[in-house]
Amino acid sequence: MKEYWSKRARDLVPYTPGEQPRQRNWIKLNTNENPYPPSQKALAAIRAAAGETLRLYPDPECTSLREALAATFDLKPAQVFVGNGSDEVLALCFQAFFDPERTILFPDVTYSFYPVFADLYGLSYREVPLDERFGLPLESFVGDNGGVVIANPNAPTGRAVSLCDIRTLLEGNPESVVIVDEAYVDFGAQSAVPLIDSYPNLVVVQTMSKSRALAGLRVGFALGNENLIAALNSVKNSFNSYTLDRLALAGAEGALRDGDYLRAITMKISSTRDWAADRLKRMGFEVSDSAANFLFISHPDIPAKVLLDGLRERGILVRWWDKPRISNYLRITVGTDQEMEALCQALTQMIEGA
Ligand SMILES: *Cc1c(COP(=O)(O)O)cnc(C)c1O
Repeated sequence: MKEYWSKRARDLVPYTPGEQPRQRNWIKLNTNENPYPPSQKALAAIRAAAGETLRLYPDPECTSLREALAATFDLKPAQVFVGNGSDEVLALCFQAFFDPERTILFPDVTYSFYPVFADLYGLSYREVPLDERFGLPLESFVGDNGGVVIANPNAPTGRAVSLCDIRTLLEGNPESVVIVDEAYVDFGAQSAVPLIDSYPNLVVVQTMSKSRALAGLRVGFALGNENLIAALNSVKNSFNSYTLDRLALAGAEGALRDGDYLRAITMKISSTRDWAADRLKRMGFEVSDSAANFLFISHPDIPAKVLLDGLRERGILVRWWDKPRISNYLRITVGTDQEMEALCQALTQMIEGA
């Protein structure tokens, strides 16, 4: 079947994204999308960009958006790289900073795209076990390695580490690049961005998909030392000059101009998360401390797969992985208050019926 495929393509095991159902009537808590609409400023900017200028290629350097990001994060534009979603930015980081001869490290329970990127680029990696409560064993991430990748807060556990721990990682790995994937940082973790000027080996990756409610626009970015950003540009310009289209550039810049809206929706989601977590605990669930827009939960009596199927029958989509250590957990995106109410009611029904 695969005789025309390259050897590399034959061996790939691609990442499986969460289901995107075609019908709209699901309560969709499976891909950590924001339940609220994007900023009106983002939508207005996209509408304004949808015109005659689409005839022209976009700015290959994304100057205006990078300047806006630099102003937002108090950095220089040369410390900012943007890409078509942070998945693309992360993939470019793996190519720009890691070599096959040196083993890279990431946790055994984390974003499952990391091993996929490593395999795609033929990199060797070690999945360092998190402790039994999914905490990060810092000492296992220092010493000889070819790079470190962590998500903070981690996915799918939601657990965050302190800036002090990030410093330990950076100081313990002066010879390698440390990538901190902050896809969920706006929901309650401490960002490592203030450390960028002190650590030439730090790359912080963020996205507009989660906290800024723009998963459909595909905009992610990396922040770091100018020298690291230059490596990302070099790889990107060897692959695709125009990774962001004109609508995405405009929409992302519009979203950045609406910091008040970002704060309002992330605060709302965090407070929904906190009451939903309390409620689930009172229902008997084990709920990990989440600094993200999702909860990672497990029930002592009912297997996660049974709950997954039961929720699906009740019109609610959540995420489950058939993987060691986490196969008895569900990852549930924090939706609106009404959606979380419906979730709690469905789970109560299942517990009472069990
Ligand atoms: C969602 C997510 C991303 C990717 O987001 P994009 O939509 O590609 O920007 C990256 N890292 C983690 C940990 C995520 O959960």
